[in-house]
Amino acid sequence: MKIYLNGKLIPEREAKISVFDHGLLYGDGVFEGIRSYNGRVFELDTHIDRLYDSAKAIALEIPMTRAGMKSAVIRTCAANKTTDGYIRLVVTRGVGTLGLNPYLCKKPQIIIIAADIQLYPKKLYDEGLKIVTVGTIRNLSEALNPRIKSLNYLNNILAKIEAINSGCMEAVMLNSQGAVAEATGDNIFIVRGNSVVTPPVNEGILEGITRNTVMTLAKEFGLDVSETRLSRYDLYTADEVFLTGTAAEVIGVVNIDRRQIGDGTPGAITRKLMKRYRQHASSTGSPIQ
Ligand code: PMP
Repeated sequence: MKIYLNGKLIPEREAKISVFDHGLLYGDGVFEGIRSYNGRVFELDTHIDRLYDSAKAIALEIPMTRAGMKSAVIRTCAANKTTDGYIRLVVTRGVGTLGLNPYLCKKPQIIIIAADIQLYPKKLYDEGLKIVTVGTIRNLSEALNPRIKSLNYLNNILAKIEAINSGCMEAVMLNSQGAVAEATGDNIFIVRGNSVVTPPVNEGILEGITRNTVMTLAKEFGLDVSETRLSRYDLYTADEVFLTGTAAEVIGVVNIDRRQIGDGTPGAITRKLMKRYRQHASSTGSPIQ
């Protein structure tokens, strides 16, 4: 595998960064997870825009234009002959001292990895996920805004540990007011009748690119889509629940905190959106050449 590191494509075993990089020492940096389908990178501009917004929010100046970043992603995919893959784009604060001061880090590091996609097993798409709400609340927007896709994912990892310890693969995180925020690496939606509802961004969530795509596709189906505060009661009593994310795409949830959702199988609207999303994702995007 060839890794893009600061302008060069180098063999994986040579792709190394300093132990003084603040990405490692403090989780100081930003990243994106991007998919390619059929030799095209899905929503590349949108991912790059979110990366630059995350970087701006933490006062990290990426030493490359958006157009340059876009072509670096495409070059990395081309060098690895990626057709259907998962791309990890990372920008760290760079090498600094052992102190926190980010202004002493002079050169952000840009890393691009074009890997294979690790999907949930097909069985889980057919049968749906069992998930739990956990005690770890989502980061307060006023502290570390979840809109920033930063390298510091401990908040999500703590929630993931709770889910796994309870025998589930995913957790629903609530915000400090007890409202539903999101899963550890995915956004959450409920379906009630003809309505498709997801928490608004100001509840403290990452504004998922899959989430936004799914909202558009659901509207095209004539469904009534809204961003509204949700409680656990809304989850338990929904007709359908599903998660969205770049890696997971759309996946049904059939059980939350030991309450069965709907009839205990992924619902009709979830299945329809799952299918439509795959069709859409595999028929648009920036060509890898
Ligand atoms: N929430 C969190 C916390 C995430 O890390 C992600 C991405 N893995 C998502 C939601 C989904 O975002 P996207 O659809 O842009 O992948």
